[in-house]
Order: sequence, then C-alpha cells, then structure tokens
Amino acid sequence: MNARKSCLLAIDQGTTSTRAILFDAQGRPLRSHAVPLRQIYPDNGWVEHDPAEIWQAALTCCRTVLGGRDAAEVAAIGITNQRETSLVWDKATGKALHNAIVWQDRRGAARCAALKKRGLEPLVARKTGLLLDPYFSATKLEWLLKNVKGARGRNVAFGTIDSWLIWNLTKGKVHATDVTNASRTMLWNLKNRDWDSGMLKLFGVPRTMLPTVIESRGDFGTADPMLLGAAIPILGVAGDQQAASFGQACFAPGDVKSTYGTGCFALVNTGKAVPRSRNRLLATALTQKQYAIEGSIFIAGAVVQWLRDELGVLASAPESQSLAKRAKDAEGLYFVPAFTGLGAPYWDPQARGAILGLTRDVGKAEIVRAALDAVCYQTRDLLEAMRRDMSAAGLARLRALKVDGGMVANDWFCQRLADLTGLSVDRPKVTETTALGAAYLAGLGAGLFKSEKDIAARWALDRRFKPGLAKPERDRLYAGWKSAIARVQ
Ligand code: ADP
Repeated sequence: MNARKSCLLAIDQGTTSTRAILFDAQGRPLRSHAVPLRQIYPDNGWVEHDPAEIWQAALTCCRTVLGGRDAAEVAAIGITNQRETSLVWDKATGKALHNAIVWQDRRGAARCAALKKRGLEPLVARKTGLLLDPYFSATKLEWLLKNVKGARGRNVAFGTIDSWLIWNLTKGKVHATDVTNASRTMLWNLKNRDWDSGMLKLFGVPRTMLPTVIESRGDFGTADPMLLGAAIPILGVAGDQQAASFGQACFAPGDVKSTYGTGCFALVNTGKAVPRSRNRLLATALTQKQYAIEGSIFIAGAVVQWLRDELGVLASAPESQSLAKRAKDAEGLYFVPAFTGLGAPYWDPQARGAILGLTRDVGKAEIVRAALDAVCYQTRDLLEAMRRDMSAAGLARLRALKVDGGMVANDWFCQRLADLTGLSVDRPKVTETTALGAAYLAGLGAGLFKSEKDIAARWALDRRFKPGLAKPERDRLYAGWKSAIARVQ
C-alpha cells in the first residue's frame, strides 16, 4: 500500500446542503466545505432539487477541500446522501430529464392511498420492509415515468442521489447504488437483496433503467482523474442514516443510534436476519450485510426553530437550554409538535400540534421545556416499538442510546432524554457521524482501517448521561404524554 495515501474524502450530499470533508487516516476531520442547496417548490407539497446544481456543488466542495494538496494522497472516496430522492437521466448525454423529486415530496400520496385501499401494504412491507408512503422512491419514479417526455426511453437511467454522484464522478462508466439506498426505493427485496420483479411490475419500472446494487463497502469505480486531479477509487457508499449508524460504530445487534437534526431518525441494528416490525416501524438494510429497524420523528430540532422563529421566545437554539433549566415543574403540561402530522409509530398525517395542560403560571420557560420533553417522549415512543419488535424476534435488548445531530449540543436535553427513556445516552466526541461513516466505509475498503473493531476502537465518548428518574415517575410522565397524543389524533 502506498504510504502517501493518507487521507479520505467524504461527500455528504444532504437535503439543504452539499458538503465534502477530508479526513486523515485516523478518521479526524482536516478540512470541510459546504454549499447550500436551492429548494424548489413547484406546487403544494412538492419539493425538488436541481441535479446539475447538486453535481456542481459536490465537485466544488471536493476541489475546495483538496485545494493545495496532492489528490493522489486520497486513498478513497466515501459517499453519503439524502435518501429516497429520485431522478432519471439520459445515459448518452448525462443530462437529467427532470429535477430530482425530494424525499419530502408528497405527490405520490393519492397513489399510495389507492394501493393501501387495495390491501397491498402487508405485501409491500413483507418484500421491502417499508410502509406505503410517498416518502419512498417508487411513486416518485412512477410519476417521472408517466409525466416526463422520453423517460421511458431505452437510454434512460434511474438513480437516487448516490447513483447520480457515482455516475458523474466516473464520467458515466458506473451506474450503481448501494444496498442501503436501494432499500429505500420500495423496489428492492430485503430478503433476496435484489430488485423485486413484483414491485417493478406494480410501479411499471423497466429493470434495465435500474442501477447495479453493490454492498456499501464495495467497488463503485474510480473518479475520473480530470475531475479531482487523480484517479481516486470510490469504495464506500451509504444513505445518511445508515452512514451515521456506521459512524457511531453500531455494529452489534441491539446497538442503537438516534440523530437529532431537524427531525429525528433512530436505527437499531438487528443483525443478519431480515427483521419485521409489527409496530409500524421500518425494516431497512444496514451496511455489512446487516439490517436495522428504523423509526423517524418529523419534528425534533424543528420545534426549537419554531419557538425561535415563529413564537419568538428564543433568541437562539442554544438558549433553549438555559430556559429549560430554569423552568418550573409544570405538572401535566405537554407540547405535541405534530406540525405535519405524526410519524412513527402513529403515522397520522391528519394530526396537528397542541399544547395541553396550560395553567396561569406557565410561561415561556415552561413551554420551551415541554417542547424539549416532547422530543424525548417521541424517542421513547420509538424505543418502545423497537423493544417490542426486538423481543418478539428474540433479539438482543437495546443498549445505551448513541446520539448525534445539532440538538445534542444541549446538555439539558441529553440528560432529560436519559431520564425520560430510562436508557443511558452516549454522546460521542465527533458528532459529524454521517460523513465519518462514509469515510470509515471508504477507509475500510482502502485498507486504512483493518476491521470494524479497529473503527469501534476509535469511537470516543464525550459524555454519558445516566437516567436519573425512578421508573414509576418516568412511566407516570409517559402515560401523560400518551393521553396528550390521543387528544390530537
Ligand atoms: P439538519 O442536519 O437537519 O439541518 P442539524 O444536525 O444541523 O440539522 O441540527 C440543527 C437543529 O438542531 C436545528 O433544528 C436547531 O433548532 C437544533 N439545535 C441546534 N442547537 C441546539 C441546542 N443547543 N439546543 C436545542 N436545539 C438545538
């Protein structure tokens, strides 16, 4: 192995920005650069991104972090990306035929409702691990095939954002995706680990337009030397949440991570057997031939943004900590932030938010605290569902909750999360776990890291928050949350 190959380049293509981070051979970030991404809203509930803008931004970010450095030092590229977002392009010209349809886009809602009415959800769940929802790629691709001129042409390729970046980095030599991204399309069979003929038929998708599916730590081709100044192999690809799970070293069944950004995504490793959720969570592919059960909450950090921008009770997000700290114990006060309906495990798109149990002595501090509490209670909702799924399948118990994302800078929130869930909350030193996961995958492929053990040894704890509430008290407060939820449904 060439001793000069001493760093890793991670591309993190997210919903609101595109970033590149250069890591050293120890997994320490050296340089990073981000470019914001324009959000396009063509209609009510529709969200699109410009694929050419995404590719240009990725290229700019990579070139910026490599600036002044010999690109030959980069051992490998790792890619992580916003999942489910879908596009089609012409293989001959390399041009996208339409904007990418973003995961948040709801244009497939009526189609999903119709399929549900036909009683197809159990079949879809059994094959793909997912629920019938426009969030996933299948109805987005179906829309593109129906509405975009030429989309059914012989030379048309479908891909999620990882595929688009791989295609462009390899100058059209490789049309591939990884298992974790494939598992979010609703077209990929979790058990057979292949595109599912029945699902392709249901959505009218020609198999020829689909990318080759490769394990996350695999050979995705080589970036063209004209682009970055050297021929760099792409050796790791994973969807953002699975990459975060890898970056958090969640390698054993029962290892669970929860990311608190705008929303919250919790994934528990369930090992090598395909899991089945009986509690309305999703089953999904992880890296390294493992699987996970996943639960998502739409509103986590977004409730803090709302308190700041709409209600004006906070000058900044971090101020939520000092206000929550000085809040009185407002018995019976619950904030249900169902601004856009409720996610897992309720899946109620009609539900709307509410603040319940208001009394004369409730002020802004108490409301802020109730909002942070809500993120904790929603996490407990997910953990309860995960626990039931895991125990029904005879799987390991949940261990400590590894957390990351912007909200976990808030110590009060982390402690409250431990108190209200009854699990220890572990905050790592590096909370940029998504890009780190992609770099680790690429680094494993390039031989910079020897094994998962080697990576796990690098995971460093910043702080452990231990549960401080007695179980009866925790359960009593949670019962109050459940009745608040019942009142908004
Ligand atoms: P995303 O990747 O979804 O944009 P980030 O991981 O950057 O999100 O986290 C940003 C979110 O975290 C915002 O919604 C913000 O309100 C929230 N946040 C940031 N700092 C704090 C804090 N100290 N306390 C509470 N919430 C915070």
